[in-house]
Amino acid sequence: MKELEQRILTHLQERGWDKLRPSDLAKSIMIEGAELLELFQWENKELDEVRNDPEKLAAIKKELADVMIYAIEMSVLLGLDTKRFIHDKLDHVAKKYPAELMRKIANGGSGSGSDSEYWKIKSEYRKRGEQ
Ligand SMILES: [Mg+2]
Repeated sequence: MKELEQRILTHLQERGWDKLRPSDLAKSIMIEGAELLELFQWENKELDEVRNDPEKLAAIKKELADVMIYAIEMSVLLGLDTKRFIHDKLDHVAKKYPAELMRKIANGGSGSGSDSEYWKIKSEYRKRGEQ
């Protein structure tokens, strides 16, 4: 991750783009996210269908790269440790959505897991102001 962050920082510095405002980067992330979403407009293909569509995958990679590059640019210009905060968030999400319960819900709500349990957990976190 550090190597990628350094490459992106150098890329920005070489072009004089290392003073971009965080708000402009946030807008760019969303704009590129919309371009990614546009690839799925008027269709609802399943995962395997998309995996087996080389043209779609090529287009997805381009837009996903745009989103991720802008996101890493924001992180780097703000002096953040990208790898650290992603791990921190994954730890938080793992605690928020217990794997066993989520797996039961994903498999049709069999056993003790259900959509209502999922929404209960989510609303409790929102009440506490956690994301
Ligand atoms: Mg794009």
